[in-house]
Amino acid sequence: MNLPTQLFLDGGFRNSSSHRHASLINPATDEPFVEVAVADAADVDTAVESAQCAWETGWRDLAPGKRSEILFNVARELREHVEEIAQVETLHIGKPISDARDEAALGARVFEYYAGAVTRFCGQTIPVARGGFDFTLRQPMGVVAAIVPWNFPFPIACWKAAPALAAGNCVVLKPASLSPLTALKLGELAHAAGLPAGVLQVLSGSGSAIGDALVTHPLIRKISFTGSTAIGRRIMELASRDLKRVSLELGGKSPNIVFADADWQRAAETSPMSVFANTGQDCCARSRVFVERGIYEPFVEKFVAATKKLIVGDPAKAETQLGPLVSSGQRATVEEFLADARKGGSQFACGGGRPHSKGYYLEPTVLLDVGKEDRCWREEIFGPVVCINPFDDETQMLRDVNASPYGLSGSLWTNDLRRALRIARRIESGVLSVNSHSSVHVEAPFGGCKQSGLGRDLGMAAMEGYTELKNVYVAE
Ligand code: NAP
Repeated sequence: MNLPTQLFLDGGFRNSSSHRHASLINPATDEPFVEVAVADAADVDTAVESAQCAWETGWRDLAPGKRSEILFNVARELREHVEEIAQVETLHIGKPISDARDEAALGARVFEYYAGAVTRFCGQTIPVARGGFDFTLRQPMGVVAAIVPWNFPFPIACWKAAPALAAGNCVVLKPASLSPLTALKLGELAHAAGLPAGVLQVLSGSGSAIGDALVTHPLIRKISFTGSTAIGRRIMELASRDLKRVSLELGGKSPNIVFADADWQRAAETSPMSVFANTGQDCCARSRVFVERGIYEPFVEKFVAATKKLIVGDPAKAETQLGPLVSSGQRATVEEFLADARKGGSQFACGGGRPHSKGYYLEPTVLLDVGKEDRCWREEIFGPVVCINPFDDETQMLRDVNASPYGLSGSLWTNDLRRALRIARRIESGVLSVNSHSSVHVEAPFGGCKQSGLGRDLGMAAMEGYTELKNVYVAE
């Protein structure tokens, strides 16, 4: 497998100015497998300045039809390399290969969607009171910094880069230190497909080392960030100095609410993967399950039985459903939560241990009798752990759901249409699925409220977020 090991700058792979490298470790084997260049502040300057140059001298003024054509070519190139992208993703973060294939194909679809959106993204004509002719323009901002996490490295890189480029911006992409390879591949493949040099730059390296330089760079007009709430807060503080635009997709503690009138058997069988997929390292993980008391015991029984059937193991095997956690540090963090749950008296219905001696694996774990004040109930664990509690009353249950500082996603299971609509309005979240666990649709806005973030990825909402709205008035 041909792995990228350098920064992707100005249409080619280059060494970092410091010539420093960092090792990547395969989480399935605990062994280092490649050394990748680490950017420093000088590389940030180079990347941003040359992206600005690419914007001013070409990309900004390219005819929309040409921009669309190039992005369709990028999508085609990504489709042709789905298997390679998936193999690389699995290698560096331990994602099960079947999921990695789906996500690589999703990245291509995101480029297709925004390639089509270029010529459908419109302003308005406005019949202003004084007559004349008034219209709005959606204008690109300039250079966008896109900072992405390690849990869905390739699709999130695509769903930031594609709409930003489609709207006429240039992009400096900063992948997470643990997962730079597929972002670097994206730079390479996009360039091979005809994206001009400098339009998409990719800086591997540590966020703590180059984050501030990137976020505060005077030529950066917008920061599009996905990651933890703590770093999101810091980025917003830094961006406020120059009133830079920000969109933030942050953490979550999403509910899964099951009423007795629902097809709760289906809910119980499908819910384990709504929290354990990606080994629980998912901002939308339905990690708090609220079950109406009348069906609580049979629901838990079915949920636990379905959990015990999940295949945890080698992410390179097609049948694997849960791979390892991304790093030993991430597993240690999750195990601290489990130790707290034990101390707090939660019941372990299953899981809690390490299923394999090598690699950062952890069993999917179901906790019962978790107190509302316990950390496992309140905080994002970002590992394969779920808490299931019964509820008696809809109003109190909603109060408990909305008591979370997060508001990203969630599922609601009921066959009562009026109840579904009532709860859909009252739940404080950016995304909600009824009788389903599906949160992400390329065509629909995705994002959170409260401390889960602000702004939206995906859909036409993302295009809006990468443009400034200008009003032009022409006198008669
Ligand atoms: P993280 O630690 O916040 O890192 C996210 C990205 O920010 C990485 O590229 C990281 O680089 C970079 N970064 C770190 N310090 C920075 C700084 N001072 N300035 C600028 N960038 C900096 O989050 P993570 O651990 O990778 O991801 C897990 C979190 O992401 C979870 O909370 C999860 O819920 C959230 N998430 C949210 C969504 C959503 O759509 N709402 C989707 C996926 C994940 P380094 O890796 O080099 O530190």
